[in-house]
Amino acid sequence: MKVLAVLYKGGEAAKQEPRLLGTIENQLGIREWLESKGHTFVVTDDKEGENSVFQKNIVDADILITTPFHPGYLTGDLVAKAKNLKLCVTAGVGSDHIDLNACVDRKIQVLEVTGSNVVSVAEHVVMSILLLVRNFVPAHEMIERGDWMVSEVARNAYDLEGKVVGTIGAGRIGYRVLQRLVPFNCKELLYYDYAALPADAAKAVGARRVEDLKDFVSQCDVITVNCPLHEGTRGLVNAELLKHAKKGLWIVNTARGAICDKDAIAAALKAGQINGYAGDVWNVQPAPKDHPWRTMKNPIGGGNGMVPHYSGTTLDAQARYAAGTKSILENFFNDKPQEPANIIVGIGKYETKAYGQR
Ligand code: NAD
Repeated sequence: MKVLAVLYKGGEAAKQEPRLLGTIENQLGIREWLESKGHTFVVTDDKEGENSVFQKNIVDADILITTPFHPGYLTGDLVAKAKNLKLCVTAGVGSDHIDLNACVDRKIQVLEVTGSNVVSVAEHVVMSILLLVRNFVPAHEMIERGDWMVSEVARNAYDLEGKVVGTIGAGRIGYRVLQRLVPFNCKELLYYDYAALPADAAKAVGARRVEDLKDFVSQCDVITVNCPLHEGTRGLVNAELLKHAKKGLWIVNTARGAICDKDAIAAALKAGQINGYAGDVWNVQPAPKDHPWRTMKNPIGGGNGMVPHYSGTTLDAQARYAAGTKSILENFFNDKPQEPANIIVGIGKYETKAYGQR
């Protein structure tokens, strides 16, 4: 079979650090294994445009492996051209870069390595909440510049204790964020999700469900976004919704960039309507050099905690999603059943309930 993988470029770092498994250099550690079984393995980071290695090779690939960090966007048009495609594997979590409805129609299965990096992301979320609330980035930049003026950074630094924190999406990551926030003694932990948490799970973290999104937003000091990107969440956090937010809201989005409206966020931060925005996901990846989220700031010069998409690709996570990818491929080649939690699209239907209510 022909296996095509779109991974990110690792450069010198990948040569020096073999545990960077998700790179084009280290190839998820599966090249020898795939070739020993007689399969062809094409690996590239060249993914944009019809002459890219990705788009040229998708036409006769049997299996596509992608990562959310450097997404090979499998659009409906490409699905139509991919005549042999039977299986898409996301080495990580989050398959919105794949046209899932087109895969349902074509009976192409889509699997993820569910759970592989949920702790990695939850830790990043807690870090990002703290760095916004405590105004960490401008304070560190001041030190690098050689300056020392405590009042300039303390004027916008707060404690997380006593604040209301809410998660949009209380699945694997959202719930782990709530668990990790418990010892901070927040005033309240809230969640907004069409799937209610089991009563004992909600009780264990003291989380209260709010069923109306505007109502939810109006109660939060901090919002963390932890739902997948799908038809029902694209642009969910937009100018209209932000009108209902408390002035000075902090937002952390490590789910998907396009869940938050790019221009509305930049404008709200600039105006001071929100006090900070942090995360690692962008509406297009890699983000263009002039993307407003790279440099946007609040009126007093802080409030930006953006980084490249790496929260779910720690070295620990890479070991897990590389192993998980291999195990999905093994099951596929040997006609063995897949781990149910890994199946996003089964043969001709969605198997997950997390990509919208249907
Ligand atoms: P999950 O399936 O365990 O949980 C997702 C939750 O979101 C579910 O409870 C679902 O009901 C809820 N949801 C779906 N649509 C919703 C909506 N319209 N409103 C409110 N809630 C909604 O998934 P997970 O493992 O927690 O991952 C969540 C997402 O995080 C992934 O889909 C991916 O996009 C993102 N992610 C990012 C990284 C990263 O490196 N930044 C890594 C892993 C996952």
